[in-house]
Amino acid sequence: MIIYKKVIDISVFIESTRRINDSIGFVPTMGALHQGHLSLIEESKKDCNLTVCSIFVNPTQFNDKSDFEKYPVTLEADIALLESVGCDVLFIPTVREIYPDNNIDYYDLGLLEEILEGKYRSGHFQGVCQIVSRLLDVVRPSIVFVGQKDYQQCMVIKKLIQIKGIDASVVICPTKREFTGLAMSSRNVRLSVDGKVAATAIYKSLLFVKESISYLLLNDVKEQVETALFKNGFSQIDYVELCDATSLKPITYWDSTTPIVVLIAATIEGVRLIDNLVIS
Ligand code: AMP
Repeated sequence: MIIYKKVIDISVFIESTRRINDSIGFVPTMGALHQGHLSLIEESKKDCNLTVCSIFVNPTQFNDKSDFEKYPVTLEADIALLESVGCDVLFIPTVREIYPDNNIDYYDLGLLEEILEGKYRSGHFQGVCQIVSRLLDVVRPSIVFVGQKDYQQCMVIKKLIQIKGIDASVVICPTKREFTGLAMSSRNVRLSVDGKVAATAIYKSLLFVKESISYLLLNDVKEQVETALFKNGFSQIDYVELCDATSLKPITYWDSTTPIVVLIAATIEGVRLIDNLVIS
C-alpha cells in the first residue's frame, strides 16, 4: 500500500495512474477502522482497479469540540488493517494540507440539512461536504463507497456529487454489526462492557419498529421505543424517526407500498450513537 500525506503527491500519482486504472474506488474515513470500514474497501476492490482510502478526522464536521478531541486515533493499527485487505493507496493529510486557506464553501442541501442529524448537529453536513468535496477533487474517483450506517450522510454525499456535477457514482454498503446487533462504530470503544450490551437496545428497537409498524400507531411505536431506550440506560434520545427512504421526509402514517427508513440517535455513557433500518 502506498501512503501519501501531501495533496500534491497523491494528485501526481492519481494523474499518472488514471491512464492505466480506469476505475478508482474511494473510501473516505476518519480512521479507528473496524470491519465496517474494511467491508467498504473489500467492495471497492471487487468493483474497481484501484482502491484509495483516506483517513482524516475532519474538524469542520464536529459541532461538539469534546467529541472531536475524544475521537479515537489508531493510525498504526489502521494501516495494518488496510494492508490486510489489500487497499492500494492510503491518503492521510494534515488539517493544513486540506484547509490551506480560510475559504469555506457553502452547499445548499435543502431539507437534508434541516432534519435528523442536520437538526441536532448544526453545521455537521456542511463540514462533511467541505471535506468530501476536497477529497473528491484530489482522488477523482469513479465510485465512492459509503456505509448505510450513516444513512443521511450517504444522501448528502449523493447530493454533493450532484451539486459539483462530477462523474462519480455512490455505492451504499450494508451496515456491519457485532454479533449482538450493535452497529460497528469507531465511537463504540468509548463504551464500557455493560454499555455495549445496553446499547444493543437501539438495534432491538429498530427490529421492534419493523415488526410492529403494521399493527401499532406510529406515535405508539415511537413512544415504546423511547421507553425501552431510557429503560436500558440511554440518557438522551435525539430522535426516533420514520422517514421516506428516498426523500428522507418524516412520515406521519405508514403505507406498506413505500419503503421507509427508521432512524435513531441516542446517547449512552456520554457516547452518541446512530443507527437505522430500511423497511421495504
Ligand atoms: P467514519 O470513519 O465513521 O467517518 O466512516 C467512514 C465510512 O465508513 C462511512 O461511509 C461510514 O458510513 C462507513 N461505516 C462506518 N461504520 C460502518 C458500519 N458499521 N458498517 C458499514 N459501514 C460503516
